Amino acid sequence: MTKAKKRKRQRRESRRARQAEGDASSSSKLEPSAQRRERSSAPGERPRCGLCGKTGELTRTECCDNWICNDEHLYVPFTYAKVSCHRNHDRYTICATHHHEGHEGDWKTCAKCRKMCEPEMYAWFATNEYNFERLPNPPAYKPTHCAKCGRVIRLATDGYVVSKGEYMCSRCGTEGLPDHLRSGL
Ligand SMILES: [Zn+2]
Ligand SMILES: [Zn+2]
Ligand SMILES: [Zn+2]
Ligand SMILES: [Zn+2]
Repeated sequence: MTKAKKRKRQRRESRRARQAEGDASSSSKLEPSAQRRERSSAPGERPRCGLCGKTGELTRTECCDNWICNDEHLYVPFTYAKVSCHRNHDRYTICATHHHEGHEGDWKTCAKCRKMCEPEMYAWFATNEYNFERLPNPPAYKPTHCAKCGRVIRLATDGYVVSKGEYMCSRCGTEGLPDHLRSGL
C-alpha cells in the first residue's frame, strides 16, 4: 500500500470512528456496528460498492440493503463468469437466497437455509468474497473425494461429475470423452 493511500484510509477510519460515536449518543437502538458501517458513508464521500469498493453506478441489494455495483449487464448468459458484483451476491450467497426464498429473520441463523444444501456448499455460500458480512462460524464438513482417484474435490470451485451418487473429479469423470467436451469441465 502506498503512503498516500494509507493516509487516506486512516483519515477515513477516524472519520468513521467519530461518526460512530456520534451515532451511539444520539440513538439508543443498538445495531451491530459492522453492519452500520457498511450501510452509511461519511458525508461528502461517494458511496462505494461494499464488495469491490468501486464508486461507479451503484444500486442497493434487495436482501441486505448494501451498496453494490449495478452491473448485471456485464454478465454474458451461460458463461457463469463471476464478473458482476450484483449477480455474484445474488447467486452465490445465503444472504440473497434467504431473501429470495422468503425466509424469516436473519440468514445467519436460518435453519431452512442450512438444510437447503450440503454443508460444504453452505459454508462456501456463507463465507465467500461475495458476502458483505461473512458467517463467523460456518459448519464443519467432510471433504468430498473423487470416487476414482481419491483427490479432494472442492464442490464450490472445482469441476466435477456426479454419477450414480458418486462424485468424480473432472479428470476421472470425463475419461474417454473427446477433448473438446472435457475442456469445458
Ligand atoms: Zn462492485
Ligand atoms: Zn444480501
Ligand atoms: Zn433462510
Ligand atoms: Zn479423480
